[in-house]
Amino acid sequence: MFHSKPMAEKYLNDLFGLRDRVALVTGGSRGIGAAIANGLAMAGATTYAIGRSEQGGCELSPLVHYLTCDITEKAAFLETIEQISYSSAIPNILVNAAGITVPSGDFLQDADDFRKILDINLMAIYNCCESVATRMKSIGGGSIINITSIGSSLGFPGNPGYIASKGGLKMLTKALAVDLASHGIRVNNVAPGYIHTEMTTSSYNNSEKHNDRLEHMLIKRWGQPEDLVGAVLFLASSASSYVTGIDLFVDGGWTTKGL
Ligand code: NDP
Repeated sequence: MFHSKPMAEKYLNDLFGLRDRVALVTGGSRGIGAAIANGLAMAGATTYAIGRSEQGGCELSPLVHYLTCDITEKAAFLETIEQISYSSAIPNILVNAAGITVPSGDFLQDADDFRKILDINLMAIYNCCESVATRMKSIGGGSIINITSIGSSLGFPGNPGYIASKGGLKMLTKALAVDLASHGIRVNNVAPGYIHTEMTTSSYNNSEKHNDRLEHMLIKRWGQPEDLVGAVLFLASSASSYVTGIDLFVDGGWTTKGL
């Protein structure tokens, strides 16, 4: 029972605020990762976003520190964590939003493309989790959030590497939740539906595909990158301190809809 407004505000801040946290967002140069980085920074976390681009896109808030790093290069990623730890502290929030897609041509995907997708969307993300978790362990814990897709649980045509990588990342998230729980590290999966970003621009701009996607949604609009922020803030903050290993779908009801 709260007897004053300041007490109630402190309660909410303790639950959802991130003022004493350091967050690292991979794939933070644009799209979903940039929106998540902005949200974490606005919730008070000292926030770092990384991508391969020389500088973060215009979507990134000045509150977010942007660093260039290709997550497939393990040495470069380790150097980036060292830099963040030196400038601020060891990250206690890691959000893995980095990802690519390479749609197939007329028939099945080329095996090289399949491997390239797995190298980034699964192998490199494992390296990020392993490298950061090792350090989180030394500070008593943290929260890891992996951005998968509704394709982690449903078959979609024309992109087997993407579906395999996201299905793999969903199960990797559960395996890590099991292995890291005793070290105070929670690991969860946020699975977006169709979100309007650079990755989906061509289907967004194609009226047939645009409307076909809409048909699957209970909430009748495409998602925006900002739609992912609430789910991530919940999983990053103390509000979810008893939550690990879950799949949180942010998909406008796509995976719930039957006919
Ligand atoms: P974008 O293509 O807009 O952004 C992808 C991000 O990943 C960029 O910041 C890119 O940065 C980064 N990235 C890719 N490869 C690497 C790498 N090797 N090292 C470092 N950063 C890398 O995609 P979205 O914002 O749409 O997607 C973000 C995540 O959400 C992805 O994992 C995607 O699979 C997932 N997702 C997206 C959906 C959608 O509808 N948009 C639906 C479901 C899931 P840079 O190019 O600067 O390296």
